[in-house]
Amino acid sequence: MPGLEDLYREIILDHYRTPRNRGELAPPAAHAVGHNPLCGDEIEVYLDVADGMVNDIKVGGQGCSISQSSASMMTQAVKGKSLEEVRALVHRFRSMMSIEELDESAAEVKLGDLEALQGVVKFPVRIKCAVLAWNTLTEALTQTAP
Ligand code: ZN
Repeated sequence: MPGLEDLYREIILDHYRTPRNRGELAPPAAHAVGHNPLCGDEIEVYLDVADGMVNDIKVGGQGCSISQSSASMMTQAVKGKSLEEVRALVHRFRSMMSIEELDESAAEVKLGDLEALQGVVKFPVRIKCAVLAWNTLTEALTQTAP
């Protein structure tokens, strides 16, 4: 389908050039740092969780367009969501990246702009770039109260 790849490239570049929710959150916000040494990507995730909801999320770091745009889209996708929804989204994204088998319960989870990253799955070395923010988010989630 010509055109779709261009659209996806446009979405990825837009998030790379104008990253959403960049910055930091003060403690007691959860904070996790992730590295992808293969590409030199670094992602920091700050997470403010209250009453089982993601109140706020900020990301910092640097790296390639795939890693940074994935982080930017992730912040938009998880902000204001319940922890349950966030975990389902993490699973859905990892299954799109062929890291996990898709659980049917998550099949309906909407990826939105994140679908722009589905082409990455064809380039195994870039999958680590795309999932870095999500792995870092998962680590930050473990620091929040259950
Ligand atoms: Zn990368």
